[in-house]
Amino acid sequence: MDSKLLEILVCPLCKGPLVYKKPEQELVCRPCRLAYPVKDGIPVMLEDDARKLPADEEV
Ligand SMILES: [Zn+2]
Repeated sequence: MDSKLLEILVCPLCKGPLVYKKPEQELVCRPCRLAYPVKDGIPVMLEDDARKLPADEEV
């Protein structure tokens, strides 16, 4: 994914920075514990589509 695009992306909920998990193709927000999917290189920044991270998952 484009690193410039990654720089401007923020979490839609808390406006905080995201961590790109390349193997999982997910953008993770640590404070919200949400993982936004990246589909075909396009980040899907929708809370409804985000995966809730279980408390025991390392982020
Ligand atoms: Zn957030």
